[in-house]
Amino acid sequence: MTMEKVFEKLRALQDVLSRKFETQNEMEEIPQALATKVELLNRLKKSYTEKSDDHEEKIRYINDLRNKAIEAERLRESFEKQMDLIQTQREYEALDKEIKDAGEKEQELRRDLQKEEELLDEMKLSLEKEEMMIQQQEEEVKEEQERIKVDIKAKETQLKSLKREEKKITPGLDEEILFKFERIIKNKSGLGIVPVEAGVCTGCHMILTSEYVNVVRRGDGIMFCPNCSRIIFYLGEDEQGDGLEELNTIDEVVEDESDYKDDGEE
Ligand SMILES: [Zn+2]
Repeated sequence: MTMEKVFEKLRALQDVLSRKFETQNEMEEIPQALATKVELLNRLKKSYTEKSDDHEEKIRYINDLRNKAIEAERLRESFEKQMDLIQTQREYEALDKEIKDAGEKEQELRRDLQKEEELLDEMKLSLEKEEMMIQQQEEEVKEEQERIKVDIKAKETQLKSLKREEKKITPGLDEEILFKFERIIKNKSGLGIVPVEAGVCTGCHMILTSEYVNVVRRGDGIMFCPNCSRIIFYLGEDEQGDGLEELNTIDEVVEDESDYKDDGEE
């Protein structure tokens, strides 16, 4: 295979691989939105359970208060009945005090009961609100799960077709070069093969030595930029016509991503 053919294959492969990695990254990100929603749902459910327990406890407390109020009422009534049997002033005063005390106790219990019942109503309202929020969140989670299923299926189809394309290109290319090339594309935002232009690597703008440029120009084998590790090829004057469009595209990408200059300092 001529070097021209190898470079042509690598450029085609670069396109396929960068789309493949992009799709794989997107697939990894898909479940994140769901995870956030599930987490919120779990928090809501936990809070609901706690509040529900508090609510149950409040009901028990109120029932207890109500029983005590009824008991106090009965006690007061029984004292009041005894009034008919009173014989002396002394007995009267003692019983009158019992009635007053029982009445006060009863009133106090009734007041507490009313206050607690108001609190219970508030708790119930808040519980109902949370119940609705949980329902809503459960629906959202369900919708998200459906959406993810569809998304993942679409991406898997896309990935399969990209892998088929990849298999069509790779035969005849050196395994080790392929391995390196894949890694470069993964790490360098999809750009793994760039032309040398005026002695400069157009991937990272590093000035290459004239000896190195000469080796690249001879085209005896695959050469890597010593700075950014991208595969570099020489764009001869007679090739400028064919490669011009591609070169422009690469230039745009390079200018957009100024961090390429930092590659050598890592
Ligand atoms: Zn470079």
